[in-house]
Amino acid sequence: MDLWTIFIHDTDWNFIGELLLRCLIMYTMIIVFLRLTGKRGVRQLSIFEVAIILALGSIAGDPMFDETLPLIQAFIVMSVIILLYRLTTYLTMKYQPFEDLLEGKPLYIVEDGMMVLRHIAQGKMSHDEFFAEMRQQGAEHLGQIRTGLLESDGKFSILFYSPEEVRYGLPLFPKDQKIIKEVEPHTYYACLHCGNVVLLSTPDEICQRCYSCKWILALNTQRQT
Ligand SMILES: [Zn+2]
Repeated sequence: MDLWTIFIHDTDWNFIGELLLRCLIMYTMIIVFLRLTGKRGVRQLSIFEVAIILALGSIAGDPMFDETLPLIQAFIVMSVIILLYRLTTYLTMKYQPFEDLLEGKPLYIVEDGMMVLRHIAQGKMSHDEFFAEMRQQGAEHLGQIRTGLLESDGKFSILFYSPEEVRYGLPLFPKDQKIIKEVEPHTYYACLHCGNVVLLSTPDEICQRCYSCKWILALNTQRQT
C-alpha cells in the first residue's frame, strides 16, 4: 500500500487548476438546471422528483474530477433530463391517469375511526408508522379520527371528530396498547389490527372485520385543545 498513490498519484498543480474550473462550471450548471425544474424548494418532492435530482447529481459528479469527460457531454445529458422532466410534469398536469401513475394517489388509511383494511394490507406503511403520525398530530385514539389520509408526497392528513362525536377507539400510545387477558362486561374493546370496537364475551374472540384476535381496552377520551 502506497499512501502517495492513494492520495496524490499523478495529480499536478495544472490538474488541480482544471479541477477548480470544472467544479465551478458544474456547480453553476447544477444551480441553473435545478432552477429550470421550476421547483421552489425540497419540502414537497415526490419520489419521481427525487429520482430526477439524484440523476442530475450523478451526472454532475463525474465531470467535476474526470479529465477525460468533456463538460459539453454533461451539459447535453442534463438538458435532455430536464426536457424529459418538463415534458412529464406537463403530461401529469394534463392527464390524470398519468399523474396517478407517477405521483401515486392519496390513500385513505382511517375512515370513521377504523383502519381501512385494504390499504394497510398493501404494506405502504406499517401500523407503527401510521400510529406515530396520528400521535404527532395530537390523536390519542382512533375514535377521535374521522379520516386519515396518506398523501402522495408521504404526508399524513387527519380530519378529527368534533368533541361530541368522539367515539370509542383503538388507543395509539404504546402504554395503552396492552392486549387483554380477560373481559369485563359492558366494556368496549378495540381490535389492535383494524380498530374495530366491540363488546366482548371472551378475550380470544375473533374480530369480525379482520379476523385477528388481539383486543385492547378502548378509549373515548376527548382531545386536549
Ligand atoms: Zn380487527
